[in-house]
Amino acid sequence: MTASKQVKLKPGDTIGILGGGQLGRMLATAAARLGLRCQVFSPDPDSPAFDVVQNATCAEYADVEALELFATDVDVVTYEFENVPAATAMILGARRPVLPDYKVLETTQDRLAEKDFVTGLGIATARYADVSSAASLRAAIGVIGLPAVIKTRRFGYDGKGQAIIREGDDLDAVWADLETKSAILEGFVPFEREISVIAARGADGTVECFDVTDNEHGDHILRVSRAPADISETLAAEARSIATKIATALNYVGVLAVEMFVVPGDNGPTLMVNEIAPRVHNSGHWTLDGASVSQFEQHIRAIAGWPLAKPVRHGPVTMTNLIGDEVNDYAKWLTVPGATVHLYGKGAPRPGRKMGHITQVMPAPGKS
Ligand code: AMP
Repeated sequence: MTASKQVKLKPGDTIGILGGGQLGRMLATAAARLGLRCQVFSPDPDSPAFDVVQNATCAEYADVEALELFATDVDVVTYEFENVPAATAMILGARRPVLPDYKVLETTQDRLAEKDFVTGLGIATARYADVSSAASLRAAIGVIGLPAVIKTRRFGYDGKGQAIIREGDDLDAVWADLETKSAILEGFVPFEREISVIAARGADGTVECFDVTDNEHGDHILRVSRAPADISETLAAEARSIATKIATALNYVGVLAVEMFVVPGDNGPTLMVNEIAPRVHNSGHWTLDGASVSQFEQHIRAIAGWPLAKPVRHGPVTMTNLIGDEVNDYAKWLTVPGATVHLYGKGAPRPGRKMGHITQVMPAPGKS
């Protein structure tokens, strides 16, 4: 962590970004606005982030020579996705500051370690149990009950590597279909809504949260986010305080997202943390046009050692993802009043592929 204290970039310096997807593309664009350069490292020659930077490294994450050259070209390293191999981050970490610290990945790449960490902070999650065989799945169901959700411990995203288990399901088949040796079983949470908090933490420990966001999913993929979330100010404050507690406990530098369930209860709704994403997040894309500073700029400021901005939302904001073929409607959105179109420059619109998004900001009362 000492490295993070030393980072103080100046305009003209270069940030290395591991990962070349749309998040890297939007990070690099935000950096450019602050006079900072980015070099993107990605194994995929079609990476959307390559389009917006002058220097790119197209190599495998295990290519030590390419990593060493990359490290000499950049002043600090960050990442835009959480499944960066630990060995990659360590090779780079020996040469340049890596922010957020790659030790964070050890916690957030493993759903069991993440749940243990969150509950260790006294924050509620779904009930969960470690599962490593069909027999231990049966035992876990005995404790947690049904319905429940089984998730692979690693490499799950957008609902991949998980399944709902209901009464009467063939547990041997469920376990075999998951094709893993390590999973967790979670009690099914009867949530009334899903929310997230995007929090930025600077190297000096300052935390700035964006307004809490309501998230609507379809087929496990985020479809629409709305800010502010339609919850009480008390619950929103609690959600922000949970995200702040997590960022602080991780000694985090950069932007992270904390996804939470709002669970109905006799004494009013309560919160349960579902997942931590140690990066900028799809549910924070509304900040690009809906706030005085975006999540991407906050991340760049944090890892550059610059002060964080104090975000002010411009009004009620909606973010709609363009998934798969929906991107073909982009021309219609171009003329919708108040809509801003973001396209990621990806090739084929495969089903489930995030191709772009739309933000719509309602003017504040008296300003229309
Ligand atoms: P995750 O990959 O953990 O973010 O889960 C993807 C989505 O599955 C979540 O956004 C929820 O809609 C749903 N989900 C995940 N875990 C649970 C749970 N324990 N109970 C109910 N729904 C869940």
